[in-house]
Amino acid sequence: MPSWFDRAAALDLPTRPFIDGRSVAAHTDTTFDSVGPRDGRVVASFPACGSDDVDRAVRAGRAAFDDGRWRDLAPAGRKHVLLRFAELVEQHRDELALLETLDTGKPIGDTTSVDAPSVATTLRWYAEVADKLYGEVAPTGPDALATITREPVGVVAAIVPWNYPLIITAWKLGPALITGNSVIVKPAEQSPMATLRLAALAAEAGLPDGVLNVLPGEGATGAWLAGHADVDKLTFTGSTATGRKVLEASAASNLKGVSLELGGKSPQVVFADAPDLDAAAEAIAWGIFYNQGQTCHAGSRLVVDERIADELVAKVSELGAGLLPGDPLEAGTQLGAMVSREQLERVVGYLELAEAEGATRPLGEPREAVAPVAGGCYLAPTVLDHVPEGARIGREEIFGPVLSVHRFDGSEAEAVRIANATEYGLAGAVWSADHGRAERVARGIRAGAVYINSFDVGDITVPHGGYGSSGFGGRDKSLHAVDQYTELKTTWRQL
Ligand code: NDP
Repeated sequence: MPSWFDRAAALDLPTRPFIDGRSVAAHTDTTFDSVGPRDGRVVASFPACGSDDVDRAVRAGRAAFDDGRWRDLAPAGRKHVLLRFAELVEQHRDELALLETLDTGKPIGDTTSVDAPSVATTLRWYAEVADKLYGEVAPTGPDALATITREPVGVVAAIVPWNYPLIITAWKLGPALITGNSVIVKPAEQSPMATLRLAALAAEAGLPDGVLNVLPGEGATGAWLAGHADVDKLTFTGSTATGRKVLEASAASNLKGVSLELGGKSPQVVFADAPDLDAAAEAIAWGIFYNQGQTCHAGSRLVVDERIADELVAKVSELGAGLLPGDPLEAGTQLGAMVSREQLERVVGYLELAEAEGATRPLGEPREAVAPVAGGCYLAPTVLDHVPEGARIGREEIFGPVLSVHRFDGSEAEAVRIANATEYGLAGAVWSADHGRAERVARGIRAGAVYINSFDVGDITVPHGGYGSSGFGGRDKSLHAVDQYTELKTTWRQL
């Protein structure tokens, strides 16, 4: 088999917008370059879709919705198209994985084993939901029959970030498509390629023209969509700052429904009676270093009983030291590149701040020492210990392979207080052999998902989303995601 390098060189790179069932020339002349984080070289140039292209995509989505070519299919018909779509994703796994790796710097071993396969799993799961969603009959008096049914919202805009482009896009496409909506995806400017390819595969699977459109573009493209008067729903994943902007754009336009999945600063609380400190250390290391720490629910804060803190920090640091970044196109690489120079600099800025804020640094090679590919964006796993209470590095989302350590006195109340000392509430974990304590602390942590003696396990059957500044307006994944993309209709029949 040719190497990943040879296969990457031979790839056909999708760059044009996908509108109304085909790849088309953009109406704009403005372009932007996607710079590959692996080596800092330009991977491809894309049109920065403007208001004209956004209008075309919205018109295509609206036409497909209005004439019922998709929503009026029997649910089993939509299911068959999605099953075929999942099959094609599986057949094109390596190609999708390569596009994702070139865009984002993720290790090819991850994109082939996690990112691309999980798209197929998600599509298949929602395909199976399509013909198993029932409506309700309300418990009215005997002189009426009232039904409560779900209807698709219409034209959905999905604005997606660069950290898990394929996975997050699939979380939105699955429930939006099975319920009969049209969708316009705006991928992040760093990572449009795999999503553009996905749209072509959906068309090949039999998804009718106009039902799925993908617009490469910059922030302005997303802003056009968020403020568009003919978009019925906006599902957004990204930063809290941009989340606020899209919410304002909705308010200033047609009050489209908005679902926000935003940042996190998730705590892993470890008590002195944690059942297996080695297992905890491993879950803590992977929970923050995986995907170079660019994960919204990364376990970026370790809240640890001071009696075991030195031992646990040493174990996590040892694991981190063995996880130096490698070339994303080498099959054995476990950590790849950060997504962009900008993101790398942002994280390095936090490391400088950490020094100013008085944290110690038991782990963290200088960036110059970590350069598997010249010109790339690489950063070694870093642990910041003795983080002072209230320090910015302990409260703000760093979005890099950086763990902040907070020690507590061993009491449950203190652990919960520190765990909740953040505006975010996406995930959390508690490690203790005492089931009562684990349960109490799990209840005390204000977050959308809490893990007991584990971290970031789970599958498509459970919802993903957060409390507080981590977002609101519905959940991704699971049957609950269907709520994002449907309206409830009451039909009252007076007898
Ligand atoms: P953004 O939130 O800006 O990007 C997310 C998506 O929103 C992208 O598709 C982006 O497009 C789009 N977008 C940008 N501006 C607008 C706008 N005004 N209206 C509508 N859509 C818009 O994240 P960044 O890429 O700037 O990352 C910055 C920080 O955000 C990270 O360092 C990290 O802390 C956090 N982040 C959190 C994520 C999470 O999952 N929680 C995911 C990504 C980032 P474009 O890429 O073209 O600008």
